[in-house]
Amino acid sequence: MEKNIAVIKGDGIGPEIVSEAMKVLDKIAEKFGHRFNYEQLLMGGCSIDVNGVPLTDETIARCKASDAVLMGSIGGNTTTSPWYKLPADKRPEAGLLGLRKALGLFANLRPCVLYKQLSEACPLKKEIAEKGFDMLIMRELTGGLYFGKRYTEEVNGIMTAVDTLEYNENEIRRIAKKAFDVAMQRRKKVTSVDKANVLDSSRLWRKVVDEVAKDYPEVTLEHMLVDNSAMQLVKDPAQFDVMVTENMFGDILSDEASMITGSIGMLASASMNETSFGLYEPSGGSAPDIAGQNKANPIATILSAAMMLRYSFKMDKEADAVEKAINDVLEAGYRTGDIMSEGMTLVTCSEMGDKIVSYI
Ligand code: NAD
Repeated sequence: MEKNIAVIKGDGIGPEIVSEAMKVLDKIAEKFGHRFNYEQLLMGGCSIDVNGVPLTDETIARCKASDAVLMGSIGGNTTTSPWYKLPADKRPEAGLLGLRKALGLFANLRPCVLYKQLSEACPLKKEIAEKGFDMLIMRELTGGLYFGKRYTEEVNGIMTAVDTLEYNENEIRRIAKKAFDVAMQRRKKVTSVDKANVLDSSRLWRKVVDEVAKDYPEVTLEHMLVDNSAMQLVKDPAQFDVMVTENMFGDILSDEASMITGSIGMLASASMNETSFGLYEPSGGSAPDIAGQNKANPIATILSAAMMLRYSFKMDKEADAVEKAINDVLEAGYRTGDIMSEGMTLVTCSEMGDKIVSYI
């Protein structure tokens, strides 16, 4: 198969971690007989330096013309970098928000995996951490409370602020479908999270999710209230496969789920539209404190590339091979600084990439 990948290396550690993911993709192409063509594009701080703006129409057009986008991270030190003297809509992060919008990315997928080799980094009780877990949170990204009408006004002399939470059935249906599709490629279980005992938007959410579930008889669906979900995540995370929820609940729960995996350098993510198109990037930022030192952990970016293989290119075997290689490298005791522990072998960013390539 031949695929065109738009590559945005970005700022800080971005170029270092993306180069390692490209090494891994090249090895996959060689082993499985594919061809990946890369087109490198600027976005974020590096685009401000060259083009004066964080995102150009050209970058948007080239991303749209690609089969998927692989990204590093953007931004710099928010106190010292001149990028942060610019107005908010001209800063690096505005480029990312603009790109997500232009590409219509409404579903954010965040896998949260606790590798048994790293269970010591998990803040949960030993007996829970030892079981490990492998779940994926799918968060609706373009609707809900963050995009509803909001205003602050004085009512009878009292300052009053209003935010509104609105979803229509089409917005719910498309994210529910995405969740069931992803569950079909995983362990075939969906937990839909809402607050249907209080909110109208949640009651509609639940009704539409139930309708969509009828088209996926192989997938087990459960509904869970958001407060209970927050508790279950720390009590028994292994029970979850795909958790799907609206924007704000997803924002909070995905951060909670990331925390219990223990390391930001291991967290992949994807944002997708209605088709198989997606933008794949690590959850962490540009880590200016370690940029240019070959110290960053490239695993989150390599796992994001594996998600691209699985969800945009439908290359399950290839994605499995990448994930297995990462597991084997951890099992063999290789660690970058952020996940280092006693008795393990410390490696650089590029050495970690090389090790993963060698295990594929
Ligand atoms: P950060 O995630 O960049 O760094 C937080 C801490 O985690 C740092 O100590 C860093 O060294 C460490 N870290 C992050 N990724 C790592 C990796 N792969 N390997 C090893 N250690 C890693 O968060 P921050 O310092 O708050 O933000 C820095 C910049 O990144 C800011 O400009 C911010 O706006 C931007 N940012 C960008 C994205 C994105 O591109 N999607 C996301 C978050 C933050």
